Amino acid sequence: MTKRIEHWIRPSVRTLRAYHVADAGNMIKLDAMENPNIWPGELEQAWLQALGAVQINRYPDARAQELKDALRTYMDIPASLDIMLGNGSDELIQLLQLAVGGPGRKVLAPTPSFVMYEMIAAAVGMEFVAVSLRDSFDLDAHAMCVAIEEHQPALVFIAWPNNPTGNLFDTQALEAVIEASPGLVVIDEAYQPFSKKTWMSRLDQYDNLLVMRTLSKMGMAGLRLGVLAGKRAWLQEFEKIRLPYNINSLTQTGAAFVLEHQGLIGGQIEQICVERQRVIEALQAIAGVKVYPSHTNFILFRVENADTVFMRLKQSGILVKNLNGVSAALDSCLRVTIGLCKENDAFLSALVQAA
Ligand SMILES: *Cc1c(COP(=O)(O)O)cnc(C)c1O
Repeated sequence: MTKRIEHWIRPSVRTLRAYHVADAGNMIKLDAMENPNIWPGELEQAWLQALGAVQINRYPDARAQELKDALRTYMDIPASLDIMLGNGSDELIQLLQLAVGGPGRKVLAPTPSFVMYEMIAAAVGMEFVAVSLRDSFDLDAHAMCVAIEEHQPALVFIAWPNNPTGNLFDTQALEAVIEASPGLVVIDEAYQPFSKKTWMSRLDQYDNLLVMRTLSKMGMAGLRLGVLAGKRAWLQEFEKIRLPYNINSLTQTGAAFVLEHQGLIGGQIEQICVERQRVIEALQAIAGVKVYPSHTNFILFRVENADTVFMRLKQSGILVKNLNGVSAALDSCLRVTIGLCKENDAFLSALVQAA
């Protein structure tokens, strides 16, 4: 069997390591940028009623029109632009790479950044070009433009704000990247609810720009819904390779219902931003901890020995993300997602003991 596997599975897939998802068990889960809030009881009842009306014996609406309309309003997507939906933005990243892929085609992104850009490139057989961020985690516009000139990438991915560093790259640096790119530039705004900044209104200005969003970080990670906005001519091409029913009926109905309750989501996001500030200040007060600025719902921080601190937090029942060893730039770094007030308190007091 080993021989057959070696013969048939592509080398680029065999050398991959599956995306690791830690088992949180009963721990306080602060590792995956989820919104920790649950809904008030009556709203949950109304939501269950809406889901109960879904006919699961029928295929979903292949165009997901009602949901797209709700998203257009909620995300201020200009009428001149088209929308494409994915089963999470991960699926959109894959679909974009499939659409432009082929021998010699390249994907470029700064690093450290979202790991799926590179993993998917390996999976679909595209070459991945990594351009290091500066030590401050700012975008190195010059290095980006030089690499773009040299490699002529079909796709450039920019997470804005960036994951796992939490910062927003300089707007002028991004403009230089967009203008230097022969192919598409995708601005991944997964954390837009927490940064409140967007390129959506500037999509019209460029022929090679796409904006990607997700509902995951604002409280619907379980529904799996990613959103791509861009000019019709591009999206028409991508639509040809989107699987016809990639957004299931429960997600279509469930997400549309939640988007109707904007006030609730907005309130939760505000509360997360307030907590973020409180946790940043508390971290700054702990000796031996270096905190990085955040425009997201997580905080990157450096300690003296990340592996030890990570283990001790785990022993205290708190799961964060250990980034030590991921890349030299992230040595001794941990990433914590903002949780409920009492979860953040538990994290902070465990960290004081552990650091
Ligand atoms: C979490 C994350 C995503 C993936 O979101 P899904 O919609 O859950 O697949 C995409 N990009 C960045 C930068 C992220 O942090």
